[in-house]
Amino acid sequence: DTAVSLSNVRKTYRVGEPVHALDGVSLEIPRGSYTAIMGPSGSGKSTLMNLVGCLDTPSEGDVFIDDRNVGSLSGRERTRLRGTQVGFVFQTFNLMPRLTALENVALPQLFQGADRVERRERARALLERVGLADREDHRPNELSGGQRQRVALARALVNDPAIVLADEPSGNLDTETEAEVLDLFGEFHEAGTTMVVVTHERHVAERAERIVHLLDGKIERIEELDGVTDEL
Ligand code: ADP
Ligand code: ADP
Repeated sequence: DTAVSLSNVRKTYRVGEPVHALDGVSLEIPRGSYTAIMGPSGSGKSTLMNLVGCLDTPSEGDVFIDDRNVGSLSGRERTRLRGTQVGFVFQTFNLMPRLTALENVALPQLFQGADRVERRERARALLERVGLADREDHRPNELSGGQRQRVALARALVNDPAIVLADEPSGNLDTETEAEVLDLFGEFHEAGTTMVVVTHERHVAERAERIVHLLDGKIERIEELDGVTDEL
């Protein structure tokens, strides 16, 4: 069972000389797996994230999210698929500054049909799971970095998405707070969430089950963290 699948994906930017930001990438992200994506600057990490997160479409090849071919959807359908099936976590948290923690977590449910009471209950349950039940009325500037990232993680999970996609999720956190947030990622993974983390940091990537190494728009190798490496 596959949460996201890329088949012979190429992404070409044409500003002068064409640049193949991704060049023949095939990758299956099984449901319930925990994948890290690493690679030097310019290797295609952001481009891959944008495709896996349904923010962009490939120039060639196919991307399937939750068994739907992203390239065949209208803009509106793509927005809806992203809103319901992808949970985003960013280095800079990207919370709405004027909304409380509870309101931030509840927000993505506007893509679903749930009424206000249901949305608040679901948001409250997730805040509880990330250990912030007592902070639901706080605004982001009244929370620490680690607490903000936990709110962001709760928000990413509120629609029960096919995949949670985190871009340098601990880049703005001190070592201790980072460990706490990554522990939470591990807990949600254990509970069945499909996690994908893009990171420059080896110790962050090592929390995953496998590391996809990108180089020059290609998958250089996939490192299984049980010690076995598949050379491509
Ligand atoms: P990374 O995230 O690993 O730094 P990117 O995916 O951002 O890599 O970039 C991969 C390559 O594609 C780089 O050569 C970059 O300059 C190029 N690129 C990325 N986005 C664009 C864009 N919107 N327009 C033109 N070139 C781009
Ligand atoms: P990161 O540190 O996450 O790898 P980047 O600096 O690679 O970030 O990219 C930041 C944003 O700029 C991305 O959304 C990417 O698509 C865009 N981008 C990267 N390279 C280029 C480029 N050469 N031309 C235009 N946009 C680019």
